[in-house]
Amino acid sequence: MDCIFCKIATKEIKSSIVYEDEFVLAFNDINPQAPIHIVVIPKEHIATLNDVIDFGIYEKIFKAINKIVKELKIDKDGYRVVANCNRNGGQTVFHIHFHILAGRYMEWPPG
Ligand code: AMP
Ligand code: ZN
Repeated sequence: MDCIFCKIATKEIKSSIVYEDEFVLAFNDINPQAPIHIVVIPKEHIATLNDVIDFGIYEKIFKAINKIVKELKIDKDGYRVVANCNRNGGQTVFHIHFHILAGRYMEWPPG
């Protein structure tokens, strides 16, 4: 399958990995929108949030996010977790992922 995040998950494409376990991989975003911008993916290919069948994947992803933010010591100052879905959500890579944005104040509402 021609999916860039699958290729990152299998290490066919190099990334700057910040966390990895059996089910989840997290790496630095190639086009960071904040001083800290990490992308968290399931290793399994799931195209959009609409395609999740086993919702246990969210537990695995959010456990990983919890570890990452504590490891990076951004848990106290705060951070934003974002998941974009389809056209109106601004999704550009069709393998589900959660952005962790941190290191500056995040405006609300988003554009
Ligand atoms: P989204 O727009 O929510 O689909 O987010 C996709 C994100 O993946 C964007 O923030 C991109 O900068 C990021 N991205 C795309 N290709 C790579 C890559 N090879 N390594 C790291 N991040 C990437
Ligand atoms: Zn994929």
